[in-house]
Amino acid sequence: MTARVLVVDDIVANVRLLEARLTAEYFEVLTAFSGLEALELLARERVDVVLLDVMMPGIDGFETARRIKADARTQHVPIIMVTALDQNSDRIQGLQAGADDFLRKPVDDVALVTRVKNVARLKSLNDEMIARAATSQQMGLSSSPFLNWAEAGNSGRILLVEDHPRAAQRMVDTLSKAYRVDVEPNPQSALLKTGDAAYDLLIVSLSLADADGLRLCSQVRSLDRTRHMPLIILVEEGEQARLLRGLDMGVNDYLSRPVDSNELLARVRTQITRKRYSDILRNRIDESVEMAITDGLTGLYNRRYMETHLATLVTQAQQTGRPLSLLIADIDHFKRVNDTHGHDAGDTVLREFATRFRRNTRGIDLACRLGGEEFVILMPETELRRAFQIGERLRAAIAAETFRLSPDKTLRMTASVGVSTLEAADDTSAALYKRADNALYAAKREGRNRVMADAA
Ligand code: GH3
Ligand code: MG
Ligand code: MG
Repeated sequence: MTARVLVVDDIVANVRLLEARLTAEYFEVLTAFSGLEALELLARERVDVVLLDVMMPGIDGFETARRIKADARTQHVPIIMVTALDQNSDRIQGLQAGADDFLRKPVDDVALVTRVKNVARLKSLNDEMIARAATSQQMGLSSSPFLNWAEAGNSGRILLVEDHPRAAQRMVDTLSKAYRVDVEPNPQSALLKTGDAAYDLLIVSLSLADADGLRLCSQVRSLDRTRHMPLIILVEEGEQARLLRGLDMGVNDYLSRPVDSNELLARVRTQITRKRYSDILRNRIDESVEMAITDGLTGLYNRRYMETHLATLVTQAQQTGRPLSLLIADIDHFKRVNDTHGHDAGDTVLREFATRFRRNTRGIDLACRLGGEEFVILMPETELRRAFQIGERLRAAIAAETFRLSPDKTLRMTASVGVSTLEAADDTSAALYKRADNALYAAKREGRNRVMADAA
């Protein structure tokens, strides 16, 4: 992901250090040396994340944050406040001023990258919500009222997996003002609980006496029903190797002990907001507009919506210079299903295909059924190589498990996939679509059940 990060600090050496580290992680970096300079820059340029020093002459970090959040044009830009090590009061004030997270000086590399990635993801989900609202408007539909950014993450259910009673109680005290928190000392019981209750977030201690918290994290990530569940781990100072393993397996964020209550609140809020946005984008469509934009058989978006939204996304990608990829999937020999088992069986296959299709997309991706047995995913902020991987994962998900027509009748199905990505500045949505379609036909020619990328 190519997020643009604005680094704000009055000390040049601090700016350069953060700039170098972020550039090394392939973030794009802009810099400012005062609050006012930062505000001027935000008015002109697209920014995805602000890293904001607290102590600056002129207007300080708190005032800068308040002004960013008070301006409708910049209120959705996440702010990470860079505070001195022991300044608890700074973090309280920071939260009140609108900070989304914190980093302590001297800034640790893993913390820097994790914090920036998390809030940048939130920003891209928010951008996609805005783009979809624009598309709905272009289609002459009232745009669905979407959740307020400031409030989306302020309620929800949390499962805390912690076997140390006092540590658990301290966190419950902090969180229970806004959230419903259940504490579960045993990871296996915790995994079962995630099945019966709709939790918005799982917080897992890596210091459990008789169990490995990372094992639970890995199970949560591999089960379909919990794959998208936000995960935060609690780590001891110096547990770097296990922390990195956790982040590698898809843990979203972490807190170091002793847990700072303001950091806890900020990180919980970010993760729950992200989940809410992601769920909305993936599933919920305002009922009044649903008929006009979705496909009745599968509930995916329809062709008309896809075409309008593709145009919105192409314009957006060309303005921001970010990647955009497109995937077309077509079920192999689908006609035979209808011919052999009847049209209803065909419909059952299409619905199951759509379920697997949706499961293999992220919240910001748009999954559509074009009609027949052709499906499309629009993937903002995704390069061709990644789009190919997503196509491959989807292809495998179709081929790996049989499709059930009735309790005693199953079918093996496969699909062919073509992917393409937005190229030059004068590329068009029609050309992008055509290239994916050509790749799909190449995949059919090569023998089906495969993914081909446009070679342009
Ligand atoms: P290929 O591997 O080349 O894609 O072969 P295919 O048989 O999948 O492709 P073809 O395009 O020849 O056939 C698609 C069939 O899909 C023809 C049509 O009857 C059927 N179909 C289209 N829409 C629906 C639908 O809504 N429900 C059902 N059950 N079948 C449909
Ligand atoms: Mg087909
Ligand atoms: Mg076809």
